Amino acid sequence: MKAPNSTCAIRSTCPYCGVGCGVVLGPDGQGGLDVRGDKSHPANFGRLCSKGTALGETVSLDGRLLAPRVHGEDTDWDSALGLVARKFSEAIAEHGPDSVAFYVSGQLLTEDYYVANKLMKGFIGSANIDTNSRLCMASTVAGHKRAFGTDTVPGTYEDLDEADLIVLTGSNLAWCHPVLYQRILANRKKRPEQKLVVIDPRRTASCDLADLHLPVKPGADVALFNGLLAEIEKRGLIDREFAEHVTGLDEAIEAAKADDLSVTGLSDDLLAEFYALWCGTEKVVTIFSQGVNQSSSGTDKVNAITNCHLATGRIGRAGLGPFSVTGQPNAMGGREVGGLANMLACHLDIENGDHRKAVGDFWSAPVIPEQAGLKAVDMFRAVGEGKIKALWILHTNPAVSMPDADKVREAIAGCDFVVVSDITEATDTARLAHVLLPATGWGEKSGTVTNSDRIISRQRAVLPAPGEARPDWWQLAEVGRLMGYGGAFDYASPAEIFREYAALSGIAGGFGKDFDISGLKDLSDAEYDALEPTRWPVSEGKQGGRFFADGKFFTPDGKGRMWPVSWKPPASKTELRYPFRLNTGRVRDQWHTMTRTARAPRLNAHLGEPFIEIHPDDASARGIGPTSLVEVTSPNGKAILRAMITDRIAPGEIFAPMHWTGENAPAARIDALVAPVTDPVSGQPESKAAVAQIKPFEAA
Ligand code: SF4
Repeated sequence: MKAPNSTCAIRSTCPYCGVGCGVVLGPDGQGGLDVRGDKSHPANFGRLCSKGTALGETVSLDGRLLAPRVHGEDTDWDSALGLVARKFSEAIAEHGPDSVAFYVSGQLLTEDYYVANKLMKGFIGSANIDTNSRLCMASTVAGHKRAFGTDTVPGTYEDLDEADLIVLTGSNLAWCHPVLYQRILANRKKRPEQKLVVIDPRRTASCDLADLHLPVKPGADVALFNGLLAEIEKRGLIDREFAEHVTGLDEAIEAAKADDLSVTGLSDDLLAEFYALWCGTEKVVTIFSQGVNQSSSGTDKVNAITNCHLATGRIGRAGLGPFSVTGQPNAMGGREVGGLANMLACHLDIENGDHRKAVGDFWSAPVIPEQAGLKAVDMFRAVGEGKIKALWILHTNPAVSMPDADKVREAIAGCDFVVVSDITEATDTARLAHVLLPATGWGEKSGTVTNSDRIISRQRAVLPAPGEARPDWWQLAEVGRLMGYGGAFDYASPAEIFREYAALSGIAGGFGKDFDISGLKDLSDAEYDALEPTRWPVSEGKQGGRFFADGKFFTPDGKGRMWPVSWKPPASKTELRYPFRLNTGRVRDQWHTMTRTARAPRLNAHLGEPFIEIHPDDASARGIGPTSLVEVTSPNGKAILRAMITDRIAPGEIFAPMHWTGENAPAARIDALVAPVTDPVSGQPESKAAVAQIKPFEAA
C-alpha cells in the first residue's frame, strides 16, 4: 500500500466495531482511498484489522442511492421530505404520538442520534425511538445501571495492558474486536506472565493462545460467576473496606451459594482452576460482550460479573475491573444521547420528572414523554399489529437482522408508511420503503463517535457527498422544521449540534451523573474540527479517568449495588423436535449484513459463504458429510447452510454467522430462526440460544 499524500491526509475513525480505531485517509492516486492506522490514536496506535485495512475498497459508488425516491421514482428533497413530514404529522394528529417510531442504528454519528432523539422525545412527544444497539449491548446498559446507578464503563483500554489476568466471557475478541485482541497479544509478548482465560461454549479463535478455555454450556454464565462469588467468600477475599461502599453483599452471596454449578457443564477441575486463578490475581479485567448480552438473562449475567468485582473492590483501578466491549462503532455515543427508548439524553432518566423538566426546559420542548417507548422487538411487534402508522428506519436492516426476521419483514411490508435513510437501496429493508432518503456514508460524513472505553473521536469527511446524498442529522432536522418545530432544529453543522449536546450534558453533571462533556460546549468550529480523541468526562475538575475506585457511585445512596442473581435456563427449551442449541454470531472479515464489507473481495476470501458449524458426532449421526448442504429449522423459520464439521463446537450445539442475508444468500437468513424472546429487564433478544433441528438438505 502506498503512503497517503500527507498534504491530503485526514484523520478519522473506522466505521465498524466498538474498538473505535483511528484511521488516516488519503487519496490512493487511482481515484480511491488509501487507509492506514492512526499511530497517534489511543484506541489502536496504528493497528488495524482486516476490515479496517480494506476500508478503501468499500467506498465505490456502485449501488449507491443517489437521489430521494418516492414509491420507486426519483424525486427532489423538498418533495420527499415534505411527504415524510406530512405523513408523520397526519399519523400523530389522527392516532397520537405513539403511532410513529424511529428505528436507528449504532452506525449513526452522535450528532445524528442527538437530533433523532430530540425530535422524537422532545417535539413529537413519544419515546418510540430505539436502535439496533438494543441487539448489541442493552443488557450491559441495564446491568451497569443496576450496579453503578448509571451506564458507565469503569475502566479504560490501558487496563488490558496492566492486568495480570484477562477473562473473556461471551466475547470472541480475536474476530469481533481484533485490534483489542492484537493489543493483548502484543502485551503478552512483553509480559508473558499475563494470563488469558476464555469462557465460551465454542472453541473460538480467541482460545488459540489462551491459558485456559472453559466451554461453558450456553446461558450458564450466571451460575459460573455465582460459583466464583461463593468461592471469593469461602476464601475470605471479600474486601471489607470497599464493602462499606456497596449494598446487597449478603443477599448476592446467598443467591450465589444456592446456584447449582453442574449447569455450567464444566468439570470440577476446570472450575477449580479458573476460580483459583481469579481469586489469586488482584489485577483482573473481565471483558464481556454479546455472548453475555444477547440472552434472556443478559442483565443478570452482567450483574453476576460486576458482583465479583464489587465484592473484591477490583474496580476502577489500573489493571482491573469489569469491561464491556460494544459491538458497533457508536453504540456508546447512542447511549449517551438517549438513543434507547428507555433513556433520555445524556444518561438522564425518562421516568424521572426532574430530569424530564431539565431536558424539556433546555430544549424548550413542548412535551417529553413520561414513560419509556417501545424497545426494538416490541416496536416491530407493534408495527405488525398495525399500531405504528409511520416508521423511519435509519442505517439498519431489520427485515433480516431482527429475531424472527421473516415476521419483521412482513410487519414492515404491511406498515402504512415506511421511510428508510441509507446509502443503498439494495437492502431487504430499503426495498420495503415508501420513501428512500439517500444518506452520506462513511468517508463522506462528519461528526463524532464514542468507543468502548469512552473515547470521543471525530469522523471526518474525506470524500464529497455523491449525487443528492445528505447527512442524517440534516434530514431529521429538515423534517423537524417541516413539522413545525422551527428553530429547535435550525442547525447549520454537526459542530453546532455537538456544542448543544455538550452544554446539555452539563445538566446531567448537575444531577450528579457521570456523563458530562460540558468542557467541550464552547468549541469553535475549527476546534471541533481539530478535536483530538478525548475520553469523557470532560468538565471542570473531571477528565477522562476511571470510575468508582473511590467508592462513590451514582446510585441514590451513592453506593455500588451487588445484585442477587440466580441462573435461569435460556427461554427456548430444546425438545425432541428441536434438539440443538443454535448460537449465532459474526465472522472475522464481515460486518452486519455485509452491505459494506461484501464490496471488498479480499474480505470475502476469508469465509466466502454461509455455513453452520456442527460437531462430527452430530453430523455423522444425521448423515451430514463435509461441505454438504444442511437444512436448519426452528419454530420460527428455516435456512439452508453449508456444513462445517468441527470439534470447535460441542455436541448438541450448532453455530451460524448472521451476515449472509441478501439476494446472494436468501436461504441463509439465520435471524429468521431466532425466537423474539428478550431479557425482561433490558429488552435485548436472546440471539445465542435458539433451538433448532438439522438434516441433510434435499432439493425438491
Ligand atoms: Fe475497525 Fe474494529 Fe477492526 Fe479497529 S478493530 S479496524 S474499529 S473493525
